[in-house]
Amino acid sequence: MSEPTTRITPRTSRRPTIGTITEPARTVDVVHETDVLVVGSGPAGLAAALAAARHGVEVTLVERFGCLGGNITTVGVEGMAWYRHEHTVEANGLAREFEDRAFAMGAAVPESQSSSYEIDAEGFKVVADVLVQEAGVHTMLHRTFVAPIVDGDAVAGIVTESKAGREAIRARRVIDATGDADVAHRAGVPTHLTPREQMMAVSVMFHLAGVDKRRFVEGIAADPQTYADWSGNGEWDIETSGKEDEMFSPFLHKPFRRAIEEGLIPPDLTTIAGTWGAVHDSGELTYMNLVHVAGIDGTDPDDLTRGEIEGRRQAMHALDALRAYTPGCESARLRNFGMTLGVRDTRKVASRYDMTERDVRDQGRFDDSIGIFPEFIDGYGILILPTTGRYFQLPYRNVLPHGVRNLLVAGRSSGGDRVSHAATRNMACCAVLGQGAGVAAAQSLHDGCELDEVRVERVQAELVRQGVRLH
Ligand SMILES: Cc1cc2nc3c(=O)[nH]c(=O)nc-3n(C[C@H](O)[C@H](O)[C@H](O)COP(=O)(O)OP(=O)(O)OC[C@H]3O[C@@H](n4cnc5c(N)ncnc54)[C@H](O)[C@@H]3O)c2cc1C
Repeated sequence: MSEPTTRITPRTSRRPTIGTITEPARTVDVVHETDVLVVGSGPAGLAAALAAARHGVEVTLVERFGCLGGNITTVGVEGMAWYRHEHTVEANGLAREFEDRAFAMGAAVPESQSSSYEIDAEGFKVVADVLVQEAGVHTMLHRTFVAPIVDGDAVAGIVTESKAGREAIRARRVIDATGDADVAHRAGVPTHLTPREQMMAVSVMFHLAGVDKRRFVEGIAADPQTYADWSGNGEWDIETSGKEDEMFSPFLHKPFRRAIEEGLIPPDLTTIAGTWGAVHDSGELTYMNLVHVAGIDGTDPDDLTRGEIEGRRQAMHALDALRAYTPGCESARLRNFGMTLGVRDTRKVASRYDMTERDVRDQGRFDDSIGIFPEFIDGYGILILPTTGRYFQLPYRNVLPHGVRNLLVAGRSSGGDRVSHAATRNMACCAVLGQGAGVAAAQSLHDGCELDEVRVERVQAELVRQGVRLH
């Protein structure tokens, strides 16, 4: 057996360099050992960690920030299931449990356009803490994954960087749930990065306080918007299936158009438009998804810097327009920005089965299903809501990457084409993939087999025991 080593990958930023330096070789302390190591704690990683732990193995969850929850808590993406309507067939499992648990713990309120709950981004930090503690997951916050430990063609752990310097964690199975496929990419799995000019826009998300709820609700009722109203508004040109067009949408565009017409905000800010999530009795108006900055590559820190600063600038203009032209918002103030820029679209791995547009549009079916997701497509100019009971299945092969053993990839970076990504990137779908990956990783350890040899009927049996809908 070869000596485990770390793998160095070249810098991936597309900016020119002005020289190189050579880092000396170093010895890194191994600080922890685990059965299943999950890197990244968004809907996919949190689900993976809980599912694996509930299937009886030792689980460690590594996260670069100081809270769990990924985009929910760090960006403020509070709409877990805003697609849910009367006939929606749900994935169940952890995708549903996150919402239900948040509601039970006072960290969710009814959402504005659906029969789902809007999760409270701050409150969910505590919900996630409780969930991992209950499941016995060993949690390691404030550690950024920087390199995989590789042994031949297998991943054997990771190296992290933190205030404590570099530390190594050994693991028998690793699940990459970083959203950007950081582990897979650096371990040598082929990945595809959407060209910058085609990437979905990034968003600075924000929340307001000081809103007069009664007047705001009356204003919305007096001029209700529909999904058809999204079309023709900057980047919000969308294809629907027709049945969505007359449905209510908490869409805000008119205040920004008027602010441009009347010279209140700069004329080039034509892409400010979007949705709000919930208006609270306390005067908070949350999940303001209004700012969309195009041409930002979420794997390039220089782009991220530009996106953060430009996004905040646009958000303040959006607030000026809301104060001026939206009933109830006259005294609104910024409560907070998401603690980081919201990135929708970066690397996708080459999986043993990459999802396709056809799968998500035509109810794809797979013998190795690890879960379902309702027919909800949101992105790249398409909006289809699951109002008719249609759904597609997700195959286990989708979380199995090519080329590297002991590694699964779940969540936003799982393999697929553009349109399939517009469905699978949604948080509940990421949770489905994460739960499947977590159970499969644990099952492979129980059975002493490789991840690509795991008996899928055993994985499915455990997923059913955990409340997941497979078909
Ligand atoms: C502005 C915006 C609005 C959206 N609106 C919706 C919506 O309304 N409904 C919906 O369902 N989806 C929405 N999405 C999409 C959805 O939020 C994401 O696709 C989803 O959260 C992806 O889940 P994930 O678990 O794969 O990754 P993430 O939620 O991105 O979680 C990844 C985690 O990994 C951590 N991480 C990353 N790199 C490292 C590293 N190197 N080391 C350690 N940790 C690391 C991150 O800090 C993070 O906690 C939206 C996205 C954005 C940006």
